[in-house]
Amino acid sequence: MVKIIPHKHCTTCGKSIVPEETFCSDKCKKQYDDAQKRQKLIFIAFIVLAFFMLVSPLLGL
Ligand SMILES: [Zn+2]
Repeated sequence: MVKIIPHKHCTTCGKSIVPEETFCSDKCKKQYDDAQKRQKLIFIAFIVLAFFMLVSPLLGL
């Protein structure tokens, strides 16, 4: 019988890691943080764009 040792997978690369960890290395953690930051920036840019699209007719632009 094969016993499966409790484990998780690295959020970035999918490598098997211990359940206490989220990433297999600092490099993967940084990569994930960078992706999160980029996503946040895109989200903010989208909000700003939507806001201007909503407001510009009111300003007569
Ligand atoms: Zn990894």
